[in-house]
Amino acid sequence: MSYRSTLEARLARKATRAIKAFDLIEEGDRVMVGLSGGKDSWALMHLLDVLRRRAPVDFSLVAVNVDSGYAAYRHDVIARTCEARGWEYRIEHTSIGDIMDDVLDADATPCSLCARLRRGVLYRIAADLGATKIALGHHADDFVETLLLNLFFAGSLKAMPARLVSDDGRHVVIRPLVYVAEDEARAYTRECNLEVIGCCCPVCGDLSLKRQRVKRWLLDLEREHPGVKSSMLKALGNVAPRHLLDTRLNPPAELRAAAGVPAGLPAPVADSVGAS
Ligand code: SF4
Repeated sequence: MSYRSTLEARLARKATRAIKAFDLIEEGDRVMVGLSGGKDSWALMHLLDVLRRRAPVDFSLVAVNVDSGYAAYRHDVIARTCEARGWEYRIEHTSIGDIMDDVLDADATPCSLCARLRRGVLYRIAADLGATKIALGHHADDFVETLLLNLFFAGSLKAMPARLVSDDGRHVVIRPLVYVAEDEARAYTRECNLEVIGCCCPVCGDLSLKRQRVKRWLLDLEREHPGVKSSMLKALGNVAPRHLLDTRLNPPAELRAAAGVPAGLPAPVADSVGAS
């Protein structure tokens, strides 16, 4: 079975690389795809379906859509498309939109709360459906934007995991599009004739949101220095812990030995690490 285009072949290669690198999909998995109807989740669903038909491992897919309850939301498009393509799916109607309306104020950062609420719904449905993995459509741009958001606004050096086991150990969240650029996901969704629907949330696309601002900064940087985003993504897999200032990453005994401090005395301050 050949790929429909060079774009699909490239995305399949990238997703396969991620699946292998992080053990994202294994024999017998039932993979539940979070399908919002945005370009990224459509691209993920279609690509995983392509891989499923070709993969040496046997796994199944089920799409799950969490409807936040906004009146204009086109969940009918999700249902129609999944039926037409023979994809198993479930639409879960919720009142997340009402909850968000209640908490929104000028200083609120609604997206993190919204994501947590939606994640809770996905976990519940995953248990209902017997899903062994929950696949989300975050792509390479999401990873580097999150890295910068945490760096600039949260004082933390982290992006997001390609594979995450939930705190209670009951769910595994996977992000097979980690190496796929946002532009590629957009183009692939278009190529596959999938109708993108908006989430209808009042803050969706709000350019004052920090994530949107970071996206614009990266766009400008990329124009000026092509390859910046790929370099940032590569950096996430090329960490030098000893050149950071987190003493949890640097065994105190080693720090003491390196600085010639006898056991029993306090470890040296972090600026003695990785100053080269
Ligand atoms: S834009 Fe709206 S729907 Fe999207 S994560 Fe933020 S609050 Fe949720």
